[in-house]
Amino acid sequence: MVPGRGPVRALVLHGPGDLRLEERADPTPGPGEVVIAVEAALTCATDAKMLVRGAHPALPPLPAPFGHEASGTVAATGRGVAGVREGDAVVVANSAPCDRCEACRRGRAGLCESLVYLSGAYAEYLVVPAPIVARNLLPRPTGMPPEIAALTEPVACGVRAAERSAARPGDTVVVLGGGPQGQAITAALAARGCEVVMCDPHADRRDRALRMGAAAALPAPRDAPAEAAVLERTPRGRGAHAVFAAVADVEAWRQAVRLAGPGGEVNLHGGPDAAAVFSTPAAHLHYRELTLQASYHHTPGAVRAALALLGRGTLPFHELLGGRIGLPDVAAALRAGGPKRIVDPRRAGTG
Ligand SMILES: [Zn+2]
Ligand SMILES: [Zn+2]
Repeated sequence: MVPGRGPVRALVLHGPGDLRLEERADPTPGPGEVVIAVEAALTCATDAKMLVRGAHPALPPLPAPFGHEASGTVAATGRGVAGVREGDAVVVANSAPCDRCEACRRGRAGLCESLVYLSGAYAEYLVVPAPIVARNLLPRPTGMPPEIAALTEPVACGVRAAERSAARPGDTVVVLGGGPQGQAITAALAARGCEVVMCDPHADRRDRALRMGAAAALPAPRDAPAEAAVLERTPRGRGAHAVFAAVADVEAWRQAVRLAGPGGEVNLHGGPDAAAVFSTPAAHLHYRELTLQASYHHTPGAVRAALALLGRGTLPFHELLGGRIGLPDVAAALRAGGPKRIVDPRRAGTG
């Protein structure tokens, strides 16, 4: 324990649906570790899944500290930590690759066989494991609010999806789904100079995509007229250079294949259930020589690119965030779904 601080409050997951606010001993960093005083953590759909299931590859054995998107200031550093000091404003990604396994050596760090994950952002103090300190603990740019910095991890997943694409400046890219991932993909590809056509059933999300840099925003192509309207926005009406399905709905995945033009690529980005199966128009896939790809998680490079995108300050990433809550409100917010909430661990709960 660091002298002068008593026990600290943290949310701990004990099992499916069993999230408890507990007082824990003030964490002391081990060798290579850093303790962050959390200023803002964010709720995430992944946490909502973890809360229901009580299990996930990124969760340590239960009972486990919970939450993985955060920014704050360095409260203490362990032996051997270089480059950060107490009081520094930082942002941390939720994992670090090993840099040694086959996936890492082949440039696919997001698929690292021994990813080390972060868990424990819903707390006054967060212990960052040594491999994450070494690879994915970054200074928070001056003037960037902590809740915007905490978006680095989810935005990095969208940036990683965009990085997988060969789309060039001027290419037409269709993005299906205007949630946080679809918006991040839109921002990253618009920044590259692509003509992004965002499709979402909700007008507010379509408007947001235009502010993120999309060239057009249309209703989701769920029927023939809506699909024709999207195709009309593509070169000679023949389909897009690239289509991103930023939703886990396999019907949208099928639509994504239908919207890809000759030689185009399709990126399946939303995380489906283990049992999900999708069917694809096979002749369309074959005679257009389409490339099917997928993207999952992020890499240290994408984390840095995401922080740079957030640091532009001109894109409306703040619109992805709902109101502030305290630790006691997190379980209810995760169950309710809706926009990401800003969790301020110093704030009392409302409920
Ligand atoms: Zn997340
Ligand atoms: Zn690895």
